[in-house]
Amino acid sequence: MGVRVVCVAQEGKGVGTGHRVRMERLAEGLRKEGVEAGVRVWDGGRWEGEGGEVVWVVDVRRSERGWVRALKEEGVVVALDPDPVLAREADVVLAGLPQAHRERVNVRVAPVWWEVPRREGRGREIRRVLVSFGGEDPWGLTEWVCGLDGGVWGGCEVEVVVGPRFGREVRTGWRVVRPSGPLHERLGDYDLVITSFGLTAYEARKAGVGVLLLNPTAYHAGLGRRAGFAGGRPGRGWVRLLGRVLRGGEEGVWGEGVGGRSAVEVVRGVVEGWGGVGCPGCGERGRRAVWRGEERTVVRCAGCGLEYVLGLGPAEREYGPDYFFEEYRAQYGRTYLEDFASIVERGRERVQVLRRWVPEGGRVLDVGCAYGPFLVAAREGGYVPAGLDVGEDAVAYVRQELGVWAWVGRFEEWEEEGEWDALTMWFVIEHFRRLSEVLDKVARLLKKGGMFAFGTPNARGLSWLLRRDRFYRESPRDHHLLLSVGVVRRLLGRWGMKVVAVRQTGLHPERIPVLGRLFPPGTLRWRITGRLLGLLGLGDTIEIYAKKYG
Ligand SMILES: [Zn+2]
Repeated sequence: MGVRVVCVAQEGKGVGTGHRVRMERLAEGLRKEGVEAGVRVWDGGRWEGEGGEVVWVVDVRRSERGWVRALKEEGVVVALDPDPVLAREADVVLAGLPQAHRERVNVRVAPVWWEVPRREGRGREIRRVLVSFGGEDPWGLTEWVCGLDGGVWGGCEVEVVVGPRFGREVRTGWRVVRPSGPLHERLGDYDLVITSFGLTAYEARKAGVGVLLLNPTAYHAGLGRRAGFAGGRPGRGWVRLLGRVLRGGEEGVWGEGVGGRSAVEVVRGVVEGWGGVGCPGCGERGRRAVWRGEERTVVRCAGCGLEYVLGLGPAEREYGPDYFFEEYRAQYGRTYLEDFASIVERGRERVQVLRRWVPEGGRVLDVGCAYGPFLVAAREGGYVPAGLDVGEDAVAYVRQELGVWAWVGRFEEWEEEGEWDALTMWFVIEHFRRLSEVLDKVARLLKKGGMFAFGTPNARGLSWLLRRDRFYRESPRDHHLLLSVGVVRRLLGRWGMKVVAVRQTGLHPERIPVLGRLFPPGTLRWRITGRLLGLLGLGDTIEIYAKKYG
């Protein structure tokens, strides 16, 4: 599919080696799943791009805004346990460790998603203890533990592990190990691991080994507590705690397993949901996440303001008979054909608006015509209608039952040419991924002076205004674009079309919190309040009528 995953880790003084280890595991896991993936290290300095289409997975302690924006120019940025800058700037945020900031996370992933051999058959007895403070241990915790009075250990066998960046000598009577392979493969050999909050703690928990944290800072201690680990900071209190642990009096060291989804699976989903780089409307790559959820992130284009979706999984779907029958019924309580008459009625209103610009006898192409309710209304209104739809059943119905000409196909690939007086798309445009290609085609197919009319959910309507989180969460997963009047005006202008009328539809005064019950649907008060919402531009759906000039 041509999209590569590049896992970016940070390494160096004060950063430790854990980020790199995780990114190597991630890249390895992705390659096993058939995804092209590699690892790069960022030292905080100059950065050369990859020159292609990339899903970046970034695992760094400290990022930089300019750098993250440069990454976004080339692709989607997925941040794993981000710092506050990345948490704001990234497209997708995955949290494995507890987060210290308030930015919204897409998915909680398991902090350890690779296999860890388990400790078996030794119960809660503690005989072998491992001391490990990562590859570098800048706080000197290793020395502090080794300096404790030998009596506190009560006859346990203790081993000390130091990593590749540990540049000091440890004076101790215990065995000091510099492991050649990954440490997690040996954790199951021990009964208790003493470490600070981080990956090793989770790996040990996954291995079924007891974990006691010795945390260098209040920040680490806070994260460790929130994650449910026992431990504390260096001091006499911690030594007493160690004594209780070794005597078997501290249940807190035996945590439950490590939950959460696999990061490999989530990143693979981002690759599968790939829709290209850049805004579907204007091509600009600058963007900002406005909402993050389990299945997608909604971003706003820095150029034209269009809101579009970055999916965390495959987005293609079928619009077969099930869509119009089963799903429609689930959503609206009746099938599409049962609703046909009322949709024809709405079509009549739309035809009346079109008649201000398109005279009788005009040729009207309805894209996404479904079973043809608008075609019926257009023919009644004196037009010569035709339909286009991806659903074979729907098109057969239109031809046979309605006697209207219609084609099966996708608009982007449709090769019939010709000139039309009007092109209509009722609740279709938000399904397209490449809006600019669609608008190219609309502009090409329309006569000079012809009309482009469409309806779509309003991304600045009452529901968005009042319950933004719910609005984004409930937006159907096959809607790639979230449009609003201002954005549409700007975009259509680039294609030589001018918005000449906007209808605010989907007016729902009853959705206003608290006051809503004063406006029961159908009453006069409801109609008046609805009109007011319309004047304020707060319809939950909008209809746009634009005229092609030149
Ligand atoms: Zn844009």
